[in-house]
Amino acid sequence: MIYDYLIVGCGVAGLNAARYIPADKKVLLVCKKSPWQCNTFFAQGGIATAIDESDINSHIDDTLQAGVFQNDIDIVRTMSSHSRQTIDELIDDGMEFDKNPDGSLAYTKEAAHSKSRVLHANGDATGRQLHLFLLKQCRHEIIDNSIVVDILSQDGICYGVELLCDNHIKRVFAHNTILASGGVGSIYQYHTNSTTISGDIQGICVEKGITLADMHLMQFHPTVYVEQTTAQKQLLTEALRGEGAKIVDEDGYAFLRDYHSSAELAPRDIVSRAIFDYIKKTESKIYLDLSNFTKKQFKRRFPNIYHNFVDMGYDLPSDKVPISPAFHYSMGGIKVDKYGLVSDCKNLFAIGEVARTGVHGANRLASNSLLEGLVFSKLVVLQSMKNQFHIDIEKFTNPQKDYILQKPQDKKLKEKLRATMWKHVGIIRNTEDLKETLDKLQQISNLDIGRLLYLRLLVAISIVQEAVANTSSIGAHFIQKKEKR
Ligand SMILES: Cc1cc2nc3c(=O)[nH]c(=O)nc-3n(C[C@H](O)[C@H](O)[C@H](O)COP(=O)(O)OP(=O)(O)OC[C@H]3O[C@@H](n4cnc5c(N)ncnc54)[C@H](O)[C@@H]3O)c2cc1C
Repeated sequence: MIYDYLIVGCGVAGLNAARYIPADKKVLLVCKKSPWQCNTFFAQGGIATAIDESDINSHIDDTLQAGVFQNDIDIVRTMSSHSRQTIDELIDDGMEFDKNPDGSLAYTKEAAHSKSRVLHANGDATGRQLHLFLLKQCRHEIIDNSIVVDILSQDGICYGVELLCDNHIKRVFAHNTILASGGVGSIYQYHTNSTTISGDIQGICVEKGITLADMHLMQFHPTVYVEQTTAQKQLLTEALRGEGAKIVDEDGYAFLRDYHSSAELAPRDIVSRAIFDYIKKTESKIYLDLSNFTKKQFKRRFPNIYHNFVDMGYDLPSDKVPISPAFHYSMGGIKVDKYGLVSDCKNLFAIGEVARTGVHGANRLASNSLLEGLVFSKLVVLQSMKNQFHIDIEKFTNPQKDYILQKPQDKKLKEKLRATMWKHVGIIRNTEDLKETLDKLQQISNLDIGRLLYLRLLVAISIVQEAVANTSSIGAHFIQKKEKR
């Protein structure tokens, strides 16, 4: 059987692509674990959109400023000018966003947006609501608990993937393959991402010689509660600061104003770096102070955060929450054109966080990623339907491989990888440590390890290689000279 479309990933990008593919097409979506184990499900703050025609230029400006003008302007324009219509299509199909008492859509403001233009659903559960909505809309087959372990490509044509499902390696063939497999969070010790997000597909691309770009550009979210034992850490959405929460030290001093005139509303790279620097200088613990909210307001506006923290023994908003920056989002990914087409390939597409469209530049503007997933998934499907590309399976001659996914020593090495990435390839980097890290990672990748760890290492190596090659401090991280001990 040859599918018309094979979609790897059931987050916003994968599910929204499926939504635009007619019901009479043969479509298969695959994902690791359950469909809701994805970053989309955990998104809190909302979805940015140009409110109307007159807001497009301002949304573009804000996106470019946050991205330190490293963005691809044409792509930013494409996203912003399609935003309103894409959101309206969602609403027309039944997606419900929060409204004001007069029935109009309620927009909130987030860091580095010059106006309130972020839509949210069920308070701070935007991702969950959007994901449930898209899952309900899905008319196509989904296979969960499947891990894609290879892409079947030959002579610039993608024939599908190899995946592990029910303990068997299976080949799935498709005329069009869409990669929507998300970012790389699990290669960092502290991160906000779902545990399914570990950059496997980016690793396969490195192996296949498919170009990745901007891999060194990662975003670290400034307000994350990292004191849990779980790998995924609890995020405290930017909207909290947008609506008045303050970042303070042990004495209650709101120090961000010393770093940037926008203080709490400065872009998140600036806030993360300021926190990192302040801790280094003062050794103070840092907190998010929510005392500007009343309990009633807080519970209504941020119900999920409220309940999650109650479960962990906090009384919000009166208790201050200890915070730290943590890895959050990957600006880099598989290099694609404006129709999501992977370079040098006729029928392989990438959308959402796995793709590097150039829309975010060196730093993503808050709430632009759900929008990117929605807009480009739609454009990719519409364009690919025009292409009508068909594979000729007779031409695919690569033999099937056997993989050992995990080996006994992988767990320990994986922890080492995550700790090393956090320590040396985080917010503040220096070239000497990066080079040492590169050697270390290359050595581990030559050991007798399972395929999944090997793929993570390939991605980590590509990140460090780009970090070594790009010696200027732009956007989300900062290159510093190594301090003499
Ligand atoms: C806590 C948190 C809060 C956020 N808040 C916001 C916000 O408010 N607004 C905003 O715009 N953005 C937010 N983001 C970012 C945004 O959620 C993500 O960038 C976006 O959801 C990514 O969507 P996606 O479809 O590309 O990938 P994901 O939603 O991460 O989905 C990836 C899918 O790929 C599958 N997959 C991965 N590897 C494989 C494999 N090897 N084989 C098979 N399947 C695979 C996974 O199982 C999953 O189904 C947030 C992110 C986090 C983590």
